[in-house]
Amino acid sequence: MVAEQGRILKVYNNVLHVATEDHMILCKLRGRVKKGRSELTPVPGDIVSLERISSDEGVIERIEARTNLLQRPRVANLTQIVVTVAAALPDPHPLVVSRFLVLAERSGIKKIALCVNKMDLCQGTPEDVLAAYEAAGYPVLRVSAEQGTGLRELHERLAGEITVFAGPSGAGKSSLLNALDPSLALLTGVVSEKIGRGRHTTRRAELLPFAGGYVVDTPGFTQQELTEIAPEELAACFPEFARHASCRFAPCSHSHEPSCAVKAAAETGELSRERYDAYIALLDELKLKRK
Ligand code: GDP
Ligand code: ZN
Repeated sequence: MVAEQGRILKVYNNVLHVATEDHMILCKLRGRVKKGRSELTPVPGDIVSLERISSDEGVIERIEARTNLLQRPRVANLTQIVVTVAAALPDPHPLVVSRFLVLAERSGIKKIALCVNKMDLCQGTPEDVLAAYEAAGYPVLRVSAEQGTGLRELHERLAGEITVFAGPSGAGKSSLLNALDPSLALLTGVVSEKIGRGRHTTRRAELLPFAGGYVVDTPGFTQQELTEIAPEELAACFPEFARHASCRFAPCSHSHEPSCAVKAAAETGELSRERYDAYIALLDELKLKRK
């Protein structure tokens, strides 16, 4: 039989649900794939080669190399992350927003957008706050799941991409996906599934077809913990800092060094003060963690 390629949409009870060009195929792993290294445990989003054993059943022969792998939930080959925060209730604290953008930058997922939900709760728009993120280079979508505003732009941004939503709980991620398409019926709250020896719990994720691409039905990092980032690596997670590269010292942590171009730009307002302050606060946090 001829090998075919497909994408794993979900893994349930050791059965892999694989979408090929025209079919959903229920697959098992070929023994030698299963015995391979643990990073080759298939996850939703994986591209696989399979051999069909009937019209809707197959055996997976190979998992193709991944472009990225999100850990919570475990999903591979995402193309986009939409960091979602609320315009109010809770207010978008600059430190919280930047923290999530840093996590997004670290995920290896190339396209990052900021989605600001609950715009209906804003008297006047928080444009002064949002301008900082646009200046940093992030597309900013202003939406309201409740009133349906901005959903067309969000739909357009999701078209053809494999997207995971991330952001603090309560921002309205579930409401937004439901407003886009009720059949996306995002699970509200955390669904835990015990895996392995029961020590680790993970959220089961599924890729849901949407707008010629997919959305992940479970939000990514809703917690805000920065782990595995060295203080020296933080500046690279603030893409707009690269425009101010003439610091006297290299490398420069953009905190205490004299003649720091980034700090100077924050002082003149060329660089957003909120973003710079968020950087310093996160840098202090990472330094404390290292001690
Ligand atoms: P999640 O934790 O990010 O998935 O957030 P949910 O979708 O569960 O929403 C959290 C709360 O915010 C719920 O009570 C929603 O009804 C409310 N909410 C969601 N979107 C909007 C919106 O656009 N406007 C307003 N006013 N409330 C919203
Ligand atoms: Zn500097």
